[in-house]
Amino acid sequence: MKYIFVTGGVVSSLGKGLTTASIGLLLESRGLKVSLQKFDPYINVDAGTMNPFQHGEVYVTEDGAEADLDLGHYERFTNAKITRLSNYTTGKIYSSVIAKERAGEYLGKTVQVIPHVTNEIKIAIRNPSREEVDVSIAEMGGTVGDIESLPFLEAIRQIGLEEGRNNVLYIHLTLIPYLRASQEMKSKPTQQSVGKLREIGIQPDILICRTEKPLSNEIKEKLALFCNVKIENVIEEKDVDFSIYEVPVIFASQKMDERIIKHLSLKCTESDLSEWQDMLNRLKHSDETVKIAVVGKYLELQDSYKSIYEALTHGGVANNVRVEIKRVNSEEIERNGAEKMLQGVNGILVPGGFGERGVEGKILSIKYAREKRIPFFGICLGMQCATIEFARNVLCLNDAHSCEFAPTTSNPVIDLMTEQKQVKTIGGSMRLGAYPCELKEHSLTFIAYKSKLVYERHRHRYEFNNRYKELFSAKGWDFSGICPSNELVEIIELKDHPWFVGVQFHPEFKSKLVKPHPLFRDFIKASRFSGTGIKRG
Ligand code: GLN
Repeated sequence: MKYIFVTGGVVSSLGKGLTTASIGLLLESRGLKVSLQKFDPYINVDAGTMNPFQHGEVYVTEDGAEADLDLGHYERFTNAKITRLSNYTTGKIYSSVIAKERAGEYLGKTVQVIPHVTNEIKIAIRNPSREEVDVSIAEMGGTVGDIESLPFLEAIRQIGLEEGRNNVLYIHLTLIPYLRASQEMKSKPTQQSVGKLREIGIQPDILICRTEKPLSNEIKEKLALFCNVKIENVIEEKDVDFSIYEVPVIFASQKMDERIIKHLSLKCTESDLSEWQDMLNRLKHSDETVKIAVVGKYLELQDSYKSIYEALTHGGVANNVRVEIKRVNSEEIERNGAEKMLQGVNGILVPGGFGERGVEGKILSIKYAREKRIPFFGICLGMQCATIEFARNVLCLNDAHSCEFAPTTSNPVIDLMTEQKQVKTIGGSMRLGAYPCELKEHSLTFIAYKSKLVYERHRHRYEFNNRYKELFSAKGWDFSGICPSNELVEIIELKDHPWFVGVQFHPEFKSKLVKPHPLFRDFIKASRFSGTGIKRG
């Protein structure tokens, strides 16, 4: 087994996740099998208890882990199997060490960061239950120099020694700032960050330099000399003008995959990025635009609805159109009305969420989509809001609500799942991960998936209240997807509407550039023709 470790220097938010995912794709394009992991230095056991506004979206894996959003990049870029073993935090590592200590596994010993915590990290990196792969790639969260990431760096240093230096490759992602006043690029922050790594005992083999402007030869030489890296291993990662999906191609043009292969003596095929390049060209050269409103409440941060935005882009690629995303704050809809905020959009998407803030604005936007016959896609909370809207405005159940927001409503059209009623703790206790969903033939979703049984990922505590099924059906509501094991409503559709679909699950997590999700593809298709009255089928 060969290992690649990716560290980050100078500042956070350099796009280490994207860089790591791109490295994975480059190796896969040469016929290699890779695994990808993310190690996060924070103490939360997983990302599930963090606010998307601060930390970005919580990503959900097939096996139900609430994980860092970088895992989304890994799945979108590669075919690596991403599971709960793909993301570790300080909290998760310590929980395991403390559990072992209580079980008496270290009996007689003083339990310490080195070797007990570092051993636990090494076990996670080498986890034997992971599939056989050629290269295991691990991204170290945080920035070199942070106190909290030290045990992780120490662990990867030890792996370098244990496995032999030609089986382990260290990649350091860094920032080369450009000073406008003196019109210079500066190498000093990188020198210092590499200096810090070398103090720990890690000598990076490849430097990837995030930069606004192209790196001159002079600065490359300086970086190589001061950081003790071969000049051909100083790779430029200039800010992309167009799309994040260009990053692997930029790396390939600088032969970064060749450098990795050489260092690790990997046996592989010639690179084949043709499928990726083809999708990228389609993305670049589509001149028709479809405007989609995403009505949410964590809009300031690009990362809060990361997978939704990506899946919309993929849906555009599948239709050869460019998707323009209009981020609409649902609280502003409450203040200004839906018409003012949503006029002129081709489709409306209401994503998942928690808490009451902004819910009424989401409901208003769904009413607008339903009445104006604008294609609508509701995801998780979006589907629940569609249910509330229909109950209030079509079934005339004026106080209809979700028990999440109005626990004492006399019309709880969205109710807490029975299995959730006993749950007392918050972390990792929702209905999580993939569950089966049976589709009704001739429904919009069946037409999209072309399959009767699908598996999609979940993250929720509330569900459609089946007591109301008949009332809804009588007024044109179609329950087109049901979970076979417990009759839980997974998908709703509105019959007399061009495209109105609500799903209790999160299809956005399974969409890729080279394999757009069928529901996003068809939502964009319907939005493209919105106003022209396309018929289902
Ligand atoms: N808050 C809702 C629930 O827990 C929806 C969750 C979501 O959108 N992910 O059921």
